[in-house]
Amino acid sequence: MSRLRQLPERHFVNRIGWLRAAVLGANDGNLSTASLIVGVAAASATQNTVLIAGVAGLVAGAMSMAAGEYVSVSSQSDSEQADLARERKELSESPGFELDELAEIYVKRGVDRDLARQVARQLMAKDALGAHAHDELGISEITTARPVQAALTSAASFSVGAAMPLLMVFVLPVGALVGIVSAASLAFLAFLGAIGARAGGANVLRGTARVTFWGALAMAITAVIGKLVGTVV
Ligand SMILES: [Zn+2]
Repeated sequence: MSRLRQLPERHFVNRIGWLRAAVLGANDGNLSTASLIVGVAAASATQNTVLIAGVAGLVAGAMSMAAGEYVSVSSQSDSEQADLARERKELSESPGFELDELAEIYVKRGVDRDLARQVARQLMAKDALGAHAHDELGISEITTARPVQAALTSAASFSVGAAMPLLMVFVLPVGALVGIVSAASLAFLAFLGAIGARAGGANVLRGTARVTFWGALAMAITAVIGKLVGTVV
């Protein structure tokens, strides 16, 4: 999408988008692996069993994040490509109609009719497809999909989040895992929640409280179910 103009201030938005995706991946990795470890440890398993469950959880989660992200971003990319191809065809077949269409978009946004036509004409003289992609289709540099990058970013950030509770299984006795992994994970989730809220320009306290509450609930439910299953089996 190098033909679409890139404005310098976009890079900031772009970096924020990337950071939020990484924070979400780490959040998922941490919460799901910590819950898994807490659940299996609550079922009074051995160190080895907890470790196998944790490693399997990390690998399965990272793969599932990568595959899910790849598919979703690819399909977004496919539909963007199809839209651009249709637009390119329309521009070459009926440029007059396309000029009216673009001008009309600016009129709807409050620009005078004559000025709107002038703006549309000048934008189309420089980069007709870029102007239509941006203002008609809403496709810009930031939303341009990169499936492989998205898949790798999610898998990597998930693994980083999952590594913390997993490392604890190596160094702590099984009996201490439920308490310490839960507490450490909640602290980590709160930290990620604060970063995520800051990156998104949202209220830091509310973001942190939300992620910590849902994290605590998820781990508590898993621990209770682990305990029940551990007693029954
Ligand atoms: Zn158009």
